[in-house]
Amino acid sequence: MNSSNAPSGAKPVSVTVLGSGDAFATAGRSQSGYLIRSKDACILMDAGPDLLGSLKRKNLAPADIDIVVISHLHGDHYGGLPFLMLEYMYESPPERMIYVVGPRNLESRSYRMMKLSYPRFDLDVIRHWLHFIEIAPHEEVRLGRVRIDAIRSPHTNPDVSLSLRLRIGGRTIVYSGDSGWNEGLVEFARDADLFLCECTYFESSHLEFHMNYPQLAANRDRFKVKRMVLTHLGHEVLEHRRDIKMELAHDGMKIDL
Ligand SMILES: [Zn+2]
Ligand SMILES: [Zn+2]
Repeated sequence: MNSSNAPSGAKPVSVTVLGSGDAFATAGRSQSGYLIRSKDACILMDAGPDLLGSLKRKNLAPADIDIVVISHLHGDHYGGLPFLMLEYMYESPPERMIYVVGPRNLESRSYRMMKLSYPRFDLDVIRHWLHFIEIAPHEEVRLGRVRIDAIRSPHTNPDVSLSLRLRIGGRTIVYSGDSGWNEGLVEFARDADLFLCECTYFESSHLEFHMNYPQLAANRDRFKVKRMVLTHLGHEVLEHRRDIKMELAHDGMKIDL
């Protein structure tokens, strides 16, 4: 696991926002995806349906990905996996094992989605390259020098949704995934170099499985993180962006850590 696509310059880790939009691709933003690169590994965190487009528009090669980490089994977060499989099958065979880490049922649901999308596709070909690893809340997965752990986010039930913490290249990246307000995130995110936090709404609070700006603004000082960036942005947030005092992600944003 040694990425040939490591960032140049002094910063050991770079994060490229592939998709900062909500499930509706509001304002034409791609759905969730983040590409994290260091000299040790290239990690794709979440794989929204526009995955291949958002990679290729930025000249990022799908074959460079060593590890895929999925926060939860909603289509805007893993619906791009069939296209990644298709890419590996026909356009850029990885010719090495790629690890796919995520909540329970990720493997069966991904292969089912692939089979529904491309019924004649021989899954055995792709099984050769993809190794799925289930990560449970409070468990840690180590892949080379990369460490991944997770807590459960209040977002789906009975499916398990995760907030994720990645340690790579001496940096810590925490990602809320989709989540309602979760007091546990305050401790989980502590000391992160980057905290990517969902903010789907500006003020609506009728959906308890997403967060809104007033919740995050009221708790901002409790998040002891070096940098906090709001993402998974819905139309309310974008319409009120001038009223928001926190940093917002955008597609193509590059964050050096
Ligand atoms: Zn979502
Ligand atoms: Zn979701």
